[in-house]
Amino acid sequence: MIDFDLPEDVQAVRAKTAAFIDEVVLPAESQVGTRPYFDIVAELQGKARAEGLWCPFVPREWGGMGLGHLANAVVQIEVGRSFSHLGAWALNCMGPQDATMVTLIEHGTQEQKERYLRPLVDGKIRICFSMTERAAGADATGMRTTAVREGDEWVLNGEKWFSSSASISQLALVMARTDPEAPRHQQFSTFLVELPNPGFLIVRDIPVMGENDTPRFENEVVGGHAEVAIENLRVSAKNLLGGLGEGFSMGQHRLGYGRLRHGMWAIAKAQAALDLAAKRALERETFGKPVAERQGVQWMLADCATELYLTRLMVLHIAYKMEKGLDLRQENSIAKNYIANMIHKVVDTSLQIHGSLGFTHDTPLAHWYQEVRAQRLVDGPDEVHRWKVGKNVLDAYRKHGSTALAAGGDLV
Ligand SMILES: Cc1cc2nc3c(=O)[nH]c(=O)nc-3n(C[C@H](O)[C@H](O)[C@H](O)COP(=O)(O)OP(=O)(O)OC[C@H]3O[C@@H](n4cnc5c(N)ncnc54)[C@H](O)[C@@H]3O)c2cc1C
Repeated sequence: MIDFDLPEDVQAVRAKTAAFIDEVVLPAESQVGTRPYFDIVAELQGKARAEGLWCPFVPREWGGMGLGHLANAVVQIEVGRSFSHLGAWALNCMGPQDATMVTLIEHGTQEQKERYLRPLVDGKIRICFSMTERAAGADATGMRTTAVREGDEWVLNGEKWFSSSASISQLALVMARTDPEAPRHQQFSTFLVELPNPGFLIVRDIPVMGENDTPRFENEVVGGHAEVAIENLRVSAKNLLGGLGEGFSMGQHRLGYGRLRHGMWAIAKAQAALDLAAKRALERETFGKPVAERQGVQWMLADCATELYLTRLMVLHIAYKMEKGLDLRQENSIAKNYIANMIHKVVDTSLQIHGSLGFTHDTPLAHWYQEVRAQRLVDGPDEVHRWKVGKNVLDAYRKHGSTALAAGGDLV
């Protein structure tokens, strides 16, 4: 029998998280912009830890809740209701902190875990991930930053672009080319770099879309996307993370984790946008009737509801595949592309239904509209995922004489 009922322990952890978000985190959101953001975070972290809500996906022996993929996913849908990210910071599962913890757990040496994983889990340090360069984004194998071995150290030179949160981080994961002669995907390795560091120069936080909409206390820096110059950056050989040439392969195990987290946050935000759309459509009258009574508007709402429902199914299927340890690369790419467009469409539709009000900052929609646009670029742009999905369709046909396995065919 197909069973979509969540197990009792999963329902319980969801309910506990939901109560914490409702009673502790959401009331604190009005403080954003009135006092330092990370002071608010520190207070919330104390309260979350006291409740046992901490690093949901991290094994208990490292100080987390040790949740499985499904349980973590439903915790994330609650965390995702805090649109200022206070919820994610409160439970210490903000990106890229969380993905780095996952990587360190899987690939770190014992020494690296003690030195970096422990303070990350403790919420004492923040990290950034530096892969993209002006020269290379969608095709990261075009990276030009080099790492050359000198005795017990590696010396890195090059530049990075869009290193999110670099300006507020104490640790960076930096990818660089260690072997130009190796096969394309084995030329790159990842280094743990302690910050601040004279070889890792933050040139600026790049001005981006929507950034001025977020309230900030006395212009404090909370995140930002940094342009970085890497000049004779010396890194101990002990700080090579994973094996030499494993920069790309090491990221694979994070795919499903990232999809569940991003997917659940997208569902939470799209759901909130659709709720706003329905409320406005019911309240607003034009030409003598509520806007909600127009079939044209009902169809807009129906399309959004359909996409939200499909997203929920995709995310649950990915959680299932992860729990079973099954290959989910095709589903990941399908979901990555679909969900990024789903959230874009739902927020846009809600904004449209609000008319000129949607264009103002009297609702959160204009801010969300700008913010969610990035989702169609980060973690691989739409076109790259669709390209991969299409290639997998062709490969499946070549191998099996059917495209079913590239189109969810293992379900039915
Ligand atoms: C808000 C934000 C945060 C980010 N944070 C980080 C971070 O923390 N760390 C980090 O390393 N990077 C980060 N990035 C960078 C992000 O990963 C890259 O923007 C992304 O990989 C795309 O690279 P690019 O921008 O250089 O696009 P390009 O490589 O220049 O590609 C441009 C466009 O070309 C098209 N295209 C490219 N290849 C193909 C193809 N094969 N088929 C069809 N069309 C194609 C697509 O339309 C694509 O959007 C961030 C980006 C943003 C916007």
